Amino acid sequence: MKKKLVFIILLLLLVSKSSPTSSITFIPIDNLSKEDNNKIKDDNLKEKNKESSSKQPLEEIRPIAKKQTELNNPLNKLVLVNKKQGLSAEFTPEDLVVPDIPFAFAEDHPKKQMRAVAAQALERLFARAKAEQVELVGVSGYRSFKRQQEIFSHNARLKGVEAANQYSAKAGHSEHQTGLAMDVSSPTVNYELVEEFGETKEGRWLSKMAPEYGFIIRYPKGKEEITGYQYEPWHLRYVGVKHAKRIAYNQSTLEDYLYG
Ligand SMILES: [Zn+2]
Repeated sequence: MKKKLVFIILLLLLVSKSSPTSSITFIPIDNLSKEDNNKIKDDNLKEKNKESSSKQPLEEIRPIAKKQTELNNPLNKLVLVNKKQGLSAEFTPEDLVVPDIPFAFAEDHPKKQMRAVAAQALERLFARAKAEQVELVGVSGYRSFKRQQEIFSHNARLKGVEAANQYSAKAGHSEHQTGLAMDVSSPTVNYELVEEFGETKEGRWLSKMAPEYGFIIRYPKGKEEITGYQYEPWHLRYVGVKHAKRIAYNQSTLEDYLYG
């Protein structure tokens, strides 16, 4: 009996030594009161907000396991359109609208359009720019298969197919056909689509703020091998806020994000 008691005391001593010395108290989940539960929820929410407001990378980039068929769906906001993967000549988004933003030209033109979800996000981005005295204009949004065909043939006639392929896409291989892309510029570069735009106040602001509104700079500097395109600081692509933030903060590309 005595032996047993000594054993128990030793055991208790051992347990108390190995237990954590911090002041964390563990409450069995079942015993949590409603208030406790709410507090935990609040703390989680605070943590989440802290995360999203910080400028640190959100998380290590991991390719999202999406089915190929889903990424081929031209209505998916993550649809991948590049030199390897294209859209059919028949695809025209049904929800094209003209975003309420300033454009580089006054006349009506189909290239003012974007899909509704992207147009609304672009309006919010441009409103924020205006509020911060950053002057941006839309230059070119939706482009039909046929229009892309005309542009490519024109460029190819001028500079040859290979050169044309460096800065323009063959029909079916332009993101502008998805209705999720918009080229933007500013008066500081004379409303042109030029690389210098990336170094202007407006270009830098855009690259920083676009992800907050669901857009990425689709063809970043130094990623030409992956995207197949030269640096285009003016080409915005809508992918939604969550994906845009992950891609941008990891300085990645849509290709790497989906398949990396
Ligand atoms: Zn573009």
